[in-house]
Amino acid sequence: MKYIDSDKLAKGLRKRLVNLNDKKVLIAQLLETEEEKDSYTKVNCHGFGRIRSFSNYSLHLRNSQKNKNEQIKPLLRGCDNSKVLLAQAFQIAGCNWNCWYCFVDMSRRIAQIKNGEYFSASELVGMFLAVEDINILDLTGGQPDLVPEWILWVMEELDKRNLRNKIFLWVDDNLSTDYFWKYLNDGQIEYITKFPKHSRAGCFKGYDESSFSFNTGVSSRLFQRQFDLFKRFIKEGMDMYAYVTFTNKEDIHLDRNIKLFMDRLQRLHHNLPLRTIPLKIVSFSAVRSSNQENFSHALTFQFEVYSAWQNELYNRFDSREIDLPYEKISLA
Ligand code: SF4
Repeated sequence: MKYIDSDKLAKGLRKRLVNLNDKKVLIAQLLETEEEKDSYTKVNCHGFGRIRSFSNYSLHLRNSQKNKNEQIKPLLRGCDNSKVLLAQAFQIAGCNWNCWYCFVDMSRRIAQIKNGEYFSASELVGMFLAVEDINILDLTGGQPDLVPEWILWVMEELDKRNLRNKIFLWVDDNLSTDYFWKYLNDGQIEYITKFPKHSRAGCFKGYDESSFSFNTGVSSRLFQRQFDLFKRFIKEGMDMYAYVTFTNKEDIHLDRNIKLFMDRLQRLHHNLPLRTIPLKIVSFSAVRSSNQENFSHALTFQFEVYSAWQNELYNRFDSREIDLPYEKISLA
């Protein structure tokens, strides 16, 4: 199989994604895309943003496809539990991976200038503030770490407007690049990691080398890099959460491989499995429109993997620990 050279791709994408002189970032235009048709999110800000509402956490994996009413542990992103959480997301227009299940149209993740627009942090924060009743600002993609300065500039803008500690900032990361250390200096890293009401979610794209490659289209050797990067973030004191996607072809050693995956997480921190949220992959519009291959088996198989994960979780933790809110699990 021919894999993407994701490091080379990242380098090329970064050049088009950022204008360092003007401190601007290329944000994807989502109007008239497949992504716009998905019902779990609503495009706004003239197509340059979208709103996510979190109430029943329908994209968290549950025990069974059929049991849609099963209680799910919320991920509150620093907000209180009593209301529906609303997040304003902005998507950087590039990603160096090519997950078959990606919810973003290909044209919106290859840094095409004609399918996006450059925005400063001030313009993005301005758009965010113009939307009513939003609790969370979500910097997503794409792969936000292709331009780690983006997070810094947004934080500086929030500071400038006296909004430190008033707005929750959520950042996604596919754990593929070390640009956070490559392009930021020590002072900037410290400023980001200490910024209050701010978390980063690192997404493990599979539970072993084979599922990782199947999902991302990149070489299996990059699977370990995801753990190495996550470890570095924890070491820096970043408030980290983990996502994992469980889609795969088939796995005759599933229980063993899930054990090994949990061992790997626990090598980073004993509690990390408790802060790891299995995500449900659904047939997003962008997937339906672009994929020739039939991935329906992988969509079903993820529930089997989830059962193995749950069994292993109960082998290693008691139910009191498992029921603790994600926010209360310490990785310190
Ligand atoms: S890492 Fe995220 S944005 Fe990139 S291809 Fe995969 S799902 Fe899409």
